[in-house]
Amino acid sequence: MLTPISKHVKMHNFSAGPGILPEEVLEEAAKACINFDHLNLSLLEISHRSKNYEKVMEEARQLVLELFQVSNDEYEVIYLGGGASLQFAMIPYNFLKTKAGYINTGVWASKAIKEAKLLGNVQIIASSEDKKFGYIPKNYIVPDDLDYLHITSNNTIYGTQYKAFPDVNVPLICDMSSDIFSREIDARNFSLIYAGAQKNIGPAGATMVIIRKDLLEKSKSNLLTMLDYKTHVKAGSMFNTPPVFPVYVIMLTLRWIKKIGGVSAIEKRNEEKARLLYEEIDRNCMFEGTVISKEDRSNMNVCFRLKNKLLESEFDNMWKDANISGIRGHRDVGGYRASLYNALPVESVKVLINVMQEFEKKNA
Ligand SMILES: *Cc1c(COP(=O)(O)O)cnc(C)c1O
Repeated sequence: MLTPISKHVKMHNFSAGPGILPEEVLEEAAKACINFDHLNLSLLEISHRSKNYEKVMEEARQLVLELFQVSNDEYEVIYLGGGASLQFAMIPYNFLKTKAGYINTGVWASKAIKEAKLLGNVQIIASSEDKKFGYIPKNYIVPDDLDYLHITSNNTIYGTQYKAFPDVNVPLICDMSSDIFSREIDARNFSLIYAGAQKNIGPAGATMVIIRKDLLEKSKSNLLTMLDYKTHVKAGSMFNTPPVFPVYVIMLTLRWIKKIGGVSAIEKRNEEKARLLYEEIDRNCMFEGTVISKEDRSNMNVCFRLKNKLLESEFDNMWKDANISGIRGHRDVGGYRASLYNALPVESVKVLINVMQEFEKKNA
């Protein structure tokens, strides 16, 4: 893939995060760093209160509502710093009054639980920790007296993903950091969705939060100003200096999603990429998938390993020679993890599959 700006050959980037972004978004962002909106100024050196930037923030908010197919009458969209990890604390700080429910499906869910426990009463509704987070729990009962239920839609590290969401009578809150806008969901079932941008919709530094107004009205009072969702909603994400550049790149990425056909088109591409790679992992006699429950395998983070670990360095040399980057597994899991985020072209998956087949020919 040749690009006009630098004429470099882009690597096949399977990084789990920060992850791959569309080439045209990177080019547009690079231009804005030099001369934004024909102002003869960089986006990095203008006021966030300028008309030109206010338009960016507004469009970045509108695109989220549009892609989720919800209206501003019901939902508010804000952009915050602090990563998805700050949301682990802000959610219980704003909404945990008597008891909150959490489903533990991995490392990130566990971190969210840890913060909530520091702030109040937490009930673990279900957990897959007994089998190293290799499945998504099903058939559990969610009490009706919870302040909210918190789930993590995609388990970035172990590679599992909810294919259906729990049907509940309490506000449903979801960390969608690693699969936001990767597939169609019914956003109306959620009271709050948040996502650190750096996995699927932008660079590190900004977190998108969409909150239903009826949940916002239930938030606690006398909260620290910066940690109160209402502060940021009222100020249009401009209470303090927002993550100006990350929000701009998110806006460009969301425009790109819309341009190539919206979330339904993205979902088709993502399903195709995941299907091709899982089929190869299951067929190829040198490899095995690491998720025990096949129906819960993630379309975003595909985890696999060599049956014979001694051959790792040979396989590593082969994928490196093919200009593949970022497929080493998380340090807690080992093996390999190919992240197939929205911007990853299907061609990159085909290159990886080709390497796996060559490797099989040589070693089987
Ligand atoms: C990466 C990740 C996080 C942590 O995001 P930060 O922005 O680094 O705080 C949280 N949740 C999930 C599901 C993730 O994949």
